[in-house]
Amino acid sequence: MEQLDLLAIRNRQTPLNVRESSRARNMTIHVIPHRGIEIVVPRRTSAASVQRFVEKHRHWIRQTQEELDNSTDAPVDVLPQEIYLRAIDKKLEVSYQQLTGPRGWRYLGTQTIGLTCSRAHYDQGIQVLKRWLQHEGKRWLVPWLYDVADELQLSFKRVQVRGQKTRWGSYSSSGTLSINYMLLFLAPELVRYLFIHELCHTRHLNHSKKFWRLVGQFDANYKRNEKRLNNTRALIPDWLLSTTM
Ligand SMILES: [Zn+2]
Repeated sequence: MEQLDLLAIRNRQTPLNVRESSRARNMTIHVIPHRGIEIVVPRRTSAASVQRFVEKHRHWIRQTQEELDNSTDAPVDVLPQEIYLRAIDKKLEVSYQQLTGPRGWRYLGTQTIGLTCSRAHYDQGIQVLKRWLQHEGKRWLVPWLYDVADELQLSFKRVQVRGQKTRWGSYSSSGTLSINYMLLFLAPELVRYLFIHELCHTRHLNHSKKFWRLVGQFDANYKRNEKRLNNTRALIPDWLLSTTM
């Protein structure tokens, strides 16, 4: 679904982004401080029903927006000095020394990554950090996924690590399992749940009763985890969400 019209709230134009999610069963509203509003909708939701939904909750949106804007600092487009990868409990400092060589990153010891761009070059820095996250995703998430697959005795042909904005993972009938490097910011049990969810799609390509029964065999808390997974935006750093992926 494409970007809907801008929503006029409080005499200002608020960016309203509509995101389809195969996991969503109901429409949900996410207010992102100082930035805009995201409506997550189940697949094949019509634009008209999204519009009705937004109209119905206009008052709540306006109130929440005001509360959040007043309680959080104005956004400053600065790159992070520290990054915490919750999934693997790893904290890193980011150093923006002007390193020599092409634009990129490299480890300076085990606790610091150095970027070959200045902190003032926001977009460049984000691009480099995304490349680094993808690298970390391949390094940590992929072997972990294979471990879970072994444990569950479910297999797939190949794995891709991407930075999809709309989903944590996916599985295609061609045998490719995709995982999002942003999983690195989530709690380990949620990453494991996502792996279980996608691996179960290797048996059932849909969200049928059979599919959920299989998921439930491997994760007794799957309902709660599924919900949590849909409410994790607060854990993803702002610098990563504020740009297009
Ligand atoms: Zn699914």
